[in-house]
Amino acid sequence: MNATKTHKGPTTDTSELTVKAPLPDLSIVVPAHNEEGNIEQTINAIMSEVVRLNISTEIIVVDDGSADATFKTASNMGQHFPVSVLRLSRNFGKEHAISAGLSASTGNIVAIIDADLQEPISYLEEMLGELKNGYEMVYAVRGNRDDESVPKRLFTSAFYKLLSMGSDVVIPQDARDFRVMNRNVVDALCALPERNRFMKGLYGWIGFKTKAVPIEMKQRTSGRSSFGFSALFKLALTGITSFTNFPLRVWTGVGSVLAILSILYGLWIFAKTIIWGVDTPGFATITVAIFFLGGIQLISIGVIGEYLARVFTEVKGRPGFIVAEISRPENQDD
Ligand code: UDP
Ligand code: MG
Repeated sequence: MNATKTHKGPTTDTSELTVKAPLPDLSIVVPAHNEEGNIEQTINAIMSEVVRLNISTEIIVVDDGSADATFKTASNMGQHFPVSVLRLSRNFGKEHAISAGLSASTGNIVAIIDADLQEPISYLEEMLGELKNGYEMVYAVRGNRDDESVPKRLFTSAFYKLLSMGSDVVIPQDARDFRVMNRNVVDALCALPERNRFMKGLYGWIGFKTKAVPIEMKQRTSGRSSFGFSALFKLALTGITSFTNFPLRVWTGVGSVLAILSILYGLWIFAKTIIWGVDTPGFATITVAIFFLGGIQLISIGVIGEYLARVFTEVKGRPGFIVAEISRPENQDD
């Protein structure tokens, strides 16, 4: 049997996916990068949950440049379930995979959930209940970080502290991408054109009435996390440069303090020479001052460079992702 209908040819337009039949009430976006060992189980778990809750649903798996059989496995699920799969032309990163899924979604309510089901789908019912209570976006927060190493926890908390400096957007520290939101929220997110995407910041930036639901996370059953230290560090830099200007502005303060200190020190040397007539041996002072100022200046130029690189990316105006192929569920006509 021909597995699924597929679209060929790269595109950044996900509107081709638009369903002609009655729109689903719920779209579930699942970003997936090398998840062949999880995706089938995840789709089964989602389907049995939405059948139990009796909600008409579409699942949109976004294959974010996987090197394994994620696309094929997920596409095959489209024979039995309302599963569409967007295959991105390469690995664009989770933030862009989520954006691709959101822009392809058609449901009145959209949920995002990881393909490894570390966030149990059983919380969906409670989260949808909160939407009914009038909240516009309901997100999961992890109950504890006991499973994480001490350096990772320190790094995370330092990152969120820096992020909140000089930023008027509230970005909750333990929030997950696992969330449900109504159509207005999704449209607001899709309208944001930036390429340097830090979704947790964008969720905060758009505002709306939000509610946190604490969840207990589970361990991955297959594969390993894509977010090692260097991936997290890159994401942290994107978050900081997108949501606070504090690292740019701090140099005005540092420069001013150094200037005042050096004037005071100059006056002190002047006074000392006038009063006591001491000949100041200055070699060590000058050497330390040169290295110190050189270091400070290089750091500040580096920070400016980091922001400039982001501006450069935005100015180039390249799309955040390219869809190489779309697989639609079996029973959906063109
Ligand atoms: N993911 C993705 N693109 C990437 C990296 C990850 O779409 O470049 C997906 C991944 O398949 C999973 C989710 O993002 O569904 C979370 O990734 P992971 O489980 O590796 O991260 P962690 O749970 O450790 O935060
Ligand atoms: Mg995970």
